[in-house]
Amino acid sequence: MEKIAENLQACYEIFLSLKLGSNGMKIPFLRPSPPRLSELLGDLIQIEKSGIFTNFGPMNTRLEGEATRRFFGGAGGCITVNNATIGLMLAMAEAVGGRASGRRYAVMPSFTFAATAQAAMWVGLTPLFCDVDPHTWLACPDSENALLEQYGDDIALIVPYATFGNNLDLGRYEKIVRERGVPVVVDAAASLGSIGADGFGFGYGSSFSIVFSMHATKTFATSEGGMIYSADEDRRNRLRAMANFGFSAPRTATMLGLNGKLSEVSALIALERLRSFDAIVEHRANLAKAYRDALKPVFGFQQARGRRLAYQFMPALLPAKSAGRRKDIIAELEEVGIGVASYFSPHLAEQSFFQNNCVAGDLPHTTAISRRILSLPMADIMTLGEVDRVVESLMRAVGHEATMGEEA
Ligand SMILES: *Cc1c(COP(=O)(O)O)cnc(C)c1O
Repeated sequence: MEKIAENLQACYEIFLSLKLGSNGMKIPFLRPSPPRLSELLGDLIQIEKSGIFTNFGPMNTRLEGEATRRFFGGAGGCITVNNATIGLMLAMAEAVGGRASGRRYAVMPSFTFAATAQAAMWVGLTPLFCDVDPHTWLACPDSENALLEQYGDDIALIVPYATFGNNLDLGRYEKIVRERGVPVVVDAAASLGSIGADGFGFGYGSSFSIVFSMHATKTFATSEGGMIYSADEDRRNRLRAMANFGFSAPRTATMLGLNGKLSEVSALIALERLRSFDAIVEHRANLAKAYRDALKPVFGFQQARGRRLAYQFMPALLPAKSAGRRKDIIAELEEVGIGVASYFSPHLAEQSFFQNNCVAGDLPHTTAISRRILSLPMADIMTLGEVDRVVESLMRAVGHEATMGEEA
């Protein structure tokens, strides 16, 4: 019986290798590889023995301290949360002083993940979509300013997104807070590992909340988890209380709250991720460079700002003339075992729920980018050889010779 199963397996593998070509392992879009749980047994036993499983126990305290040192040179502080969506809800509610009522807007790019808008809606805000810059793909200052002028006092909050880990100009938003008195929360879900021009982790020194994700699919891969950074200690204290049912005195709610606590096991996984993290981000940056160098003649790319980006995957723009064939191109790559996605298409203003419940400004650049966007595979365990394979298949799919490999 076992023999038959073995033979079947062997036949299946031959079939796969024929279908996928001679060097034929699959290249999935993402291959989450958080720290190996099997190697954390000693620490897991520690947690079990301590009897402290959550409620900001020792693992959380260590994680917050180490993250603050590693990413922000010890300036400001981090508050752990159980995921970035809850983190965004807490940070938004904190920024506007509770749950909003009436038609109050949260300005955010339409070119972001659904969680940005969902979080605002849970807080009672109405997403108001702005356009993105055609080069950096970050919220477009002109578009944001136009909405600020048009909607004036109805704007409760601005929520820029640090697109695909790009280093948003935080100085501009500090100025808006100072001059207009409109609060800001940054969706930096994919930014752990990104380094700004100042040499510190993205968000460094920010007076408002910067919200990071530690989801398994992000560069800082754990399982579920998030972190809010702010240099403002009062804000951090409020966020801490809000993430603990709004308790600022024992079992006494004094403000809006929910359960946003990260478990000790999740904090342990995150601590472990911190150890190897720099090498992971560097490796991904090298993969991104290889993608860019090889695809540059034909594809468009995001203009990176700051010193380093943490790549969750590799975003690229199809040649304009191929955009209409995107579905076929993705299917063609799928045929040879390569997983490709298209974040963020449809963008938020194109999704029916948001279309029906939100307001959109003019979005010409968002529309153009979203139509052409492809998200190419990336993983901690991805090799440069695998990048070559993706490039070759992609170039073939858009009708170009790959001009890399041999002469490079
Ligand atoms: C992943 C992501 C989120 C949500 O993060 P979770 O930790 O999964 O809740 C929010 N916003 C953006 C832009 C994201 O990419």
